[in-house]
Amino acid sequence: MSDARAEALKDQSMVIQKEMIAEHYERLARAPETGEPVVYTFVPGNLTELIRSFGCLPVLPEINALQSGMRGKSRDYITEAEKHGHSEDVCTYVKCDIGMAMAGNIGPTGTKLPKPDLLLLSYTGCYTFMKWFELLREQYDCPCVFLHVPYQGDGRIEPEHREYMVRQLREQVIPALERISGRRYDEEALRERLRLSVQAEDDLVWVLQSARNRPSPIDAYFGAVYYVGPIFSAFRGTPEGVAYYQALRREVQSRLDAGLGPVAPAGPMNEQKYRLVVEGPPNWTHFREFWQMFADEGAVVVASTYSKVGGTYDFGFRHDPDDPLGTLGDYCAGCYTNHNLPGRIDMLCQYLRDYDADGFLINSVKSCNSFSAGQLMILREVEKRTGLPGGFIESDLVDPRYFSAANIKNRLESYLQMVEARRGGGAREARAS
Ligand code: SF4
Repeated sequence: MSDARAEALKDQSMVIQKEMIAEHYERLARAPETGEPVVYTFVPGNLTELIRSFGCLPVLPEINALQSGMRGKSRDYITEAEKHGHSEDVCTYVKCDIGMAMAGNIGPTGTKLPKPDLLLLSYTGCYTFMKWFELLREQYDCPCVFLHVPYQGDGRIEPEHREYMVRQLREQVIPALERISGRRYDEEALRERLRLSVQAEDDLVWVLQSARNRPSPIDAYFGAVYYVGPIFSAFRGTPEGVAYYQALRREVQSRLDAGLGPVAPAGPMNEQKYRLVVEGPPNWTHFREFWQMFADEGAVVVASTYSKVGGTYDFGFRHDPDDPLGTLGDYCAGCYTNHNLPGRIDMLCQYLRDYDADGFLINSVKSCNSFSAGQLMILREVEKRTGLPGGFIESDLVDPRYFSAANIKNRLESYLQMVEARRGGGAREARAS
């Protein structure tokens, strides 16, 4: 397909998003001159509204890594990091980021990334986060502040957990932001940003839940990674973020009105033979090829857990402007990988039921223990509880060495044959029981 045709087939929202991202990276590149302070932080548990209320600009290293993966740059970065002693077992987001820094810290859109003025480590259960920022702290010799988010070991957050997070925000995170920005904490400015977050969150949830329709007007895994992009990264609590989600909602509404499916890499996906739920992050180095394998089989994803890694809004959470710091704590604790395994199983079972899916598939990525540990147990348990067939494929986030197209295609085809064979039989009985 020619580039012009591929561009023409793109959703308008993708084009808007591309421009938003490019502008953000350009603003980051100018930060050393404009003096806007730069805060590096992670997607799960990101405190974008708070960061921006101090006039700081967020940088999300995982987003840089996945963008580098999508743009074919991660292989060289990973090789570079491995040459410098980072083991093959290390999460490839980390190696991609370290390799990018070694190669001059040119971001995925081709502009230079500024050094951090602060590393803000919201710890939502991934030990790698700590090691990653230790390396960056050494490299940039800058301050690092730690927000410890308690894991939902018992499946809920207790009042004392919440108080513990609010205390850390007041006593550590806010003073650190005050120091680098030279501004006092302004709670009203934070509230205003949280009001904008709620608008975007409402529209995002509407978009994700549109997949309950037949045909689904969205792909809730491959398409949804674009849809969650702004809200999981630099744009939650911004007018641009609100405008993006309004435009996205209009776009999805018009497909719904016309009875159309989403636009997959090779074209519209209006014929939908299978409705699937997917657990686990996607592979980024072969993202379009991976998506097209599903589209070629007529398999649309109607719900996914990865699209909740930066917030589980579809279960009702919204940022609360009336309780600005408490709500940030709730947000951090509610990110998907901060849920325990029974909670993740419940979520998958609920998706299968609410979205009337034919089955579920796990993409187990080599890099990420936060996601992958326990996935085989999840597979067995969800199958047992729903009677629906589960499938298991393996790849990686941004290391192309772990993407075997033939292998994945084979497994996907056999899985869909199993769905076909079991359709209407045992699964329905189990669902009815
Ligand atoms: S191990 Fe998983 S959660 Fe942790 S940094 Fe890597 S991708 Fe992110």
